Amino acid sequence: DTRHGTILSLEDIHVSFDGFKALSDLTLYIGVGELRCIIGPNGAGKTTLMDVITGKTRPTSGSAFFGETLDLARLSEPQIAQAGIGRKFQKPTVFEALSVFENLELAQQADRSVWASLRARLSGEQRDGIDEVLHSIRLHDQRQRQAGLLSHGQKQFLEIGMLLVQQPRLLLLDEPVAGMTDAETEFTAELFKSLARKHSLMVVEHDMGFVGSIADHVTVLHQGSVLAEGSLAQVQNDERVIEVYLGR
Ligand code: ADP
Repeated sequence: DTRHGTILSLEDIHVSFDGFKALSDLTLYIGVGELRCIIGPNGAGKTTLMDVITGKTRPTSGSAFFGETLDLARLSEPQIAQAGIGRKFQKPTVFEALSVFENLELAQQADRSVWASLRARLSGEQRDGIDEVLHSIRLHDQRQRQAGLLSHGQKQFLEIGMLLVQQPRLLLLDEPVAGMTDAETEFTAELFKSLARKHSLMVVEHDMGFVGSIADHVTVLHQGSVLAEGSLAQVQNDERVIEVYLGR
């Protein structure tokens, strides 16, 4: 197994909005191939954290590295996406009028030049990639179906597929199982565990049952910094975490 090292290093990150500290002295490392869950009460800074990683928000100070050498502060938001950081927002945003397959095809071409995508299409390389993703998100038999007709959960899986065809190294997922049925939630857990072999995942989630079923490592954010880190059992037994969640 050659998987080792750190895919993401955030050190002493500060983000202020008009003097309000959304992130404060935040230090966080994600290992290659890790499936990390981020939890924390509303306003803890989870969204701001993902905004910093994707370049949407610039830290006031601190350092953010992708892999060993890529300084995120030097890259634009599209460059960060191209470098291999994919983000899925909570609400699914698929092209409802297009088929499942066409959605994946569009996503795959999003960052290619026209010429490269035509050549890939001729070689069949592109179709193979999409087929593999269709199987992994369990939508292969739905590939000709109009995306707007899928269930909420299937749309979420399609959107994850739209990220996967871009072959990201790090996936950021915001509350992926919100609104899903139990069966869909179970499948999501299975999917994430299998994805973590090839990609690294960072999942923001409120559903503790789901968190317990996927994560080897949990980070608790509170008031813009890391309050606790460890297994779910460890952080759930942490006095400070109990106080933050249950009130004083
Ligand atoms: P979470 O995702 O954990 O609920 P957020 O990262 O959305 O937390 O927010 C952290 C804090 O920063 C909140 O108090 C929020 O009101 C504040 N905040 C987030 N974005 C902005 C912004 N653009 N301007 C001012 N305050 C913001």
